[in-house]
Amino acid sequence: MMKQSHSVAELKGVGPETSEALKEMGILTVSDLLEYLPYRYEDFRLKDLEEAAQDERVTVEGVIHSTPSTVYYAKKKTRLSFKLLVDRYLVTVVFFNQPYLKKKFELHQTVTITGKWDRNRQTITANDFQIGQNKQQQTFEPVYSTKGSVTVKGLRKFIGLAFSQFENEIVETLPEYFMQKYKLLTRKQALRAMHFPMGENDLKQARRRIAYEELLLFQLKMQALRRIQRQGSAGISHTYDNDSLTNYMESLPFPLTSAQSRVVQEILQDMKSPHRMNRLLQGDVGSGKTVVATIALLASVTSGYQGALMVPTEILAEQHAASIQELLKDTGVKTALFTSSVKGKKRRELLEALKAGEIDILIGTHALIGDEVFFNRLGLVITDEQHRFGVKQRRILREKGENPDVLFMTATPIPRTLAITVFGEMDVSIIDEMPAGRKQIETYWAKHNMLDRVLGFMEKELQKGRQAYVICPLIEESEKLDLQNAIEVHDMLVQYFGTRYQIGLMHGKLPTVEKDEVMRQFSDNQSQVLVSTTVVEVGVNVPNATFMFIYDAERFGLSQLHQLRGRVGRGSEQSYCVLVSDAKSENGKERMRIMTETNDGFVLSEKDLELRGPGDFFGRKQSGLPEFKVADLVHDYRMLEVARDDASQLINSNAFWEEEHYAQLRAYLDSTGILAQDKLD
Ligand code: ADP
Ligand code: MG
Repeated sequence: MMKQSHSVAELKGVGPETSEALKEMGILTVSDLLEYLPYRYEDFRLKDLEEAAQDERVTVEGVIHSTPSTVYYAKKKTRLSFKLLVDRYLVTVVFFNQPYLKKKFELHQTVTITGKWDRNRQTITANDFQIGQNKQQQTFEPVYSTKGSVTVKGLRKFIGLAFSQFENEIVETLPEYFMQKYKLLTRKQALRAMHFPMGENDLKQARRRIAYEELLLFQLKMQALRRIQRQGSAGISHTYDNDSLTNYMESLPFPLTSAQSRVVQEILQDMKSPHRMNRLLQGDVGSGKTVVATIALLASVTSGYQGALMVPTEILAEQHAASIQELLKDTGVKTALFTSSVKGKKRRELLEALKAGEIDILIGTHALIGDEVFFNRLGLVITDEQHRFGVKQRRILREKGENPDVLFMTATPIPRTLAITVFGEMDVSIIDEMPAGRKQIETYWAKHNMLDRVLGFMEKELQKGRQAYVICPLIEESEKLDLQNAIEVHDMLVQYFGTRYQIGLMHGKLPTVEKDEVMRQFSDNQSQVLVSTTVVEVGVNVPNATFMFIYDAERFGLSQLHQLRGRVGRGSEQSYCVLVSDAKSENGKERMRIMTETNDGFVLSEKDLELRGPGDFFGRKQSGLPEFKVADLVHDYRMLEVARDDASQLINSNAFWEEEHYAQLRAYLDSTGILAQDKLD
C-alpha cells in the first residue's frame, strides 16, 4: 500500500519492455514490486566447516596454502585447484572451467570462497570468491522467482530503484499501538529488510512483522464475515429449562466427560442467544458426539421447537435414530426416522405428523431436504459428517425453518489452529477427551512378508466370533485399479479362508443399494470379513469388529489412517489394527511409527499437518486455506491466535469503525468486498 499508485514505468531505468516483462509476473505498480518478496536467501555468512552438512552451500575465509594449479582434461574442460587453510582445516578449493582465474590467486593470500562443500572429499567446489576478507555487506542475498526476460539481478536492481524513489510513500497499515505492543518493525523497515537484510535478526524481525500483518488482515476478514453473518441472521432464542436439562444429563447412564459438559454449555449458550448459531462440533470417533447432539435437540424441543439430524447414509440414520431414541426414552420426546426407504402410507403419515408438530425430532438422510418435507417449527438443524453434504443441501435443510440454529458435527480432527483458520467464520467446539475406560486399539506395523502371520492373527479373532475389516491399497486417481485391487484381495482371502468365513466386498463402483446391503450383512454378522476400498462408510458402527488390517498403509495420510482405524475398537473387546507396509521413505516410516504409538486423533492430526504441510492437509483445491507470503500456519500458530483475538477485539469496537489510525485496515476490508456482502452463502 502506497500513498499513491505508481506504475513501474515511473522508475528510472525501467523501459516499456521491462514494464511488460514485469507485468507478466503480476507486477504492475511500484507497490507490487515492493511487495514481491524473495522466496529464499543465499546465505553468505561465514560457515564453520565442522558444522556444515554434505553439499551445503558455504562461505569461508582462509589463506591460500598451495600454489594454484590447473589441470586440462577432456575437451575444453579445466580444473583449477589449491589448498586453503580455514582455521585449522586444510581443504581443497576447486574452480571448474575458469582457467583465467589462476592469475588472481597467490600463495599466502587471504581469500573468501563461496561454494558447495563436499565433506567426504574435504573440497569446496567454488562458484564465487573475493580477494581478501569477507566484505560482503549483505550476508543474505535475496532470491526471487522470476519469469521471462526478468532476472534475479534485474529484480534486485528494480527493487533498489523503487526504494530510492518511493520509499517515503510506503504507508503504514498497523496502528502504532500494535507496533509498540509487539515491538514490530514499521512496514517500511520490514519491506526494506526483506529485500536488503542486514543480518539474521533483521530478517527475522521483518518476517515477524509481515507475518503478523498477514494474519491480522486475514483474521479481520474472517471476523468481519462472521459479524455480518450474525447481524444478518436474527435467529431463535431457545428458552429451554435449565433445571430439567440438568436433571436429564444427570439421569444419563454415564456421566458426561468434562469435554462433553464444556461443549454442551457452549452449544446451549449459543442456542439461548438471539443470533443464529453456526457452530462446528469436532470430536474424535467415539468421543461421544451423539449424546451432545441429543442434549441440544432436547433443549430445542423443550423450548417448543422441532429438531432435525441429517446424516450421509441410511445405515447411519438408522443407528443414530436408534441410539437417540434410547437416550430419550424416558423424556416423552417423539423421534422418527426418515429415509427414502420409508414409503407409502407410513411416509404420508409421518410427514403429516411432522407438519402438525407431533414429531419432535426427525432423523434421516438427505431425504430430509425433500420438497414434501414440512416442519411445524424447526428450531435446530444438526448435520453429521459435515464434509459429506454440500453447502446447498445444508441451506435447503436450514430453510425448512425460520433461521434455525445450526450445528455441524465432524469426526475428522482438524488441528486447532487450522480449525481457527478454515472455520474462522464459524464457532468451533471441540471434544478433546475420550470417555473413561475406553480400550486403546493396539496397532502394529508389519512387512508384507509377514502376511501369513497377520492372517493367522486375524483368524484367531474370527475364531472368537469377532469380525474383521481388510482395507485395500489406495490407488490415487484410479478407481479402476482400486477396484482391481479389492477384487484380488477378496479372492485371496476367499482362497485362504475357504468356507470357514464369509467375505464381503465393498467398493466405490457398487450402487448405493448394494453398498447398503453389503454393509448390512456385515453389520448383521452374515459376513465376518469385509474387504473394502476406502469407501467404508464413515461413522458406521459394528462393535463386534475387532480387527482391521490395512494394505500398503504408507499410501494413506495419518488422518485417514486414523479414521479407518476408528471402525474398530467400538465394543468392549480389545481391538487390533495391523498396518501392512514396506514403507521406504523416512516420512512413510514415521507415519507408521506414530500410528503404533498413539490413538489420539488430535495428536495425529497435528503430526499430519507437520509432515504434510497445511496445503496438502486437506488437498489443495478444496482446502479453503489462505495463501500467505510469509506467515506459516504451522509455525506461526501462536501468532495466529494472537491475531485472531486482536481482530475480534477490533471488529467489535466502535473505534475501529471510526478512528483515523484504523483507516488502512478498514480500507483493506473494503477492498475484499465482504463489507458489501449482505448474506452468507
Ligand atoms: P461419536 O463421537 O463417534 O459419534 P458416539 O456418540 O457414537 O461417538 O459414542 C460412542 C460410544 O460412547 C457410545 O456407545 C456412547 O454411548 C458412549 N459414550 C458417550 N459418552 C460417554 C461417556 N461420557 N461415558 C461413557 N460412555 C460414553
Ligand atoms: Mg457419531
